[in-house]
Amino acid sequence: MAKKSTVLVTGAGGFIGHHLVRYLAQRGFRVRGADLKLPEYESSDADEFMVCDLRSGKDCMKACRDVDEVYHLAADMGGIGYITASHAEISINNILINANMLNAVRQNGVDRFLFSSSACVYPQYLQREADVVPLKEEDAFPADPEEGYGLEKLFMEKLCQYFTEDYHIATRVVRFHNVYGPLGTYDGGREKAPAAICRKVAACEDEDEIEIWGDGQQTRSFMYVDDCVEGIFRIMRSDYGLPLNLGTDELVTIDELVDIVAATAGKTIKKRHDPSRPQGVRGRNSDNTRLRQVLHWEPKLSLRQGCEHTYRWIAERVATENAGAREAAE
Ligand code: NAD
Repeated sequence: MAKKSTVLVTGAGGFIGHHLVRYLAQRGFRVRGADLKLPEYESSDADEFMVCDLRSGKDCMKACRDVDEVYHLAADMGGIGYITASHAEISINNILINANMLNAVRQNGVDRFLFSSSACVYPQYLQREADVVPLKEEDAFPADPEEGYGLEKLFMEKLCQYFTEDYHIATRVVRFHNVYGPLGTYDGGREKAPAAICRKVAACEDEDEIEIWGDGQQTRSFMYVDDCVEGIFRIMRSDYGLPLNLGTDELVTIDELVDIVAATAGKTIKKRHDPSRPQGVRGRNSDNTRLRQVLHWEPKLSLRQGCEHTYRWIAERVATENAGAREAAE
């Protein structure tokens, strides 16, 4: 690349988008960020940041003007509690964002468009056992995705395919599997399991009890955010236009995740399970065969290593908040 491209990162005020902006800026790209909000915990490395609402076609047109490539991460999303409680709102917001972004990409003549899809597109009938068979890309059909959020992601994957077939736009579709790391949402109701568990462990004393959603035997794999942004970049640079998993295949139960976080914190934790809380599918894991074939690469950080970085960041935040609350009470 003689002259570095101008790239747009939507969702640049969010968790993965913020890390991606930094990764791209460090590699010399001119980066425009777009989001409803600025990043919460530190300032953005974007050369230009548009605070805008991408549900609006006009804002999408402005965001895509004069950019070569779009990394489209903006979405109304959250952890399992949030996505199971707000089907209508999440679906309508994401339909508007995604359709308007694709139209703007086409009208602005953008060269490449990467869509951040999700493992929530996979059929629920393949995820009923904790000891789950890892999910291959072609397993997405016959479809039976997560209501609302997953169904909308699956439809957007098809829209990307149609825009490639009908308008020759180069699209990349990446199915993330549970991304975690520092600077991710850790409270407020939109946080995901690793961040919520780190927060609960950080907030409790040694030997205390914490609440775990479900019976703790549900399984997942988790990917550290640095691996995620490197994978996103590699997929964008590849010539692979079909959906691709991006995750690890290190399967753990939620109880094991709690044990890893507790060990990192040096605390003994008692678990109180609440099966009435949402837990999503029973088991989910990524089959990385195709990812390895396409990229000759896959995420490398172990859950234990990733949890150390994540726990340290969340524990510092929790300690600062507690100190602030104590000061305010005095
Ligand atoms: P996030 O919530 O931190 O970031 C999403 C960003 O989109 C937020 O900053 C939000 O303000 C922005 N946004 C929402 N509505 C908008 C609008 N109308 N206009 C402009 N911006 C808007 O989430 P994240 O974890 O960084 O996820 C990024 C992408 O990856 C999303 O598309 C998500 O669906 C996908 N994904 C994430 C995970 C994960 O584990 N984090 C897993 C699967 C898929």
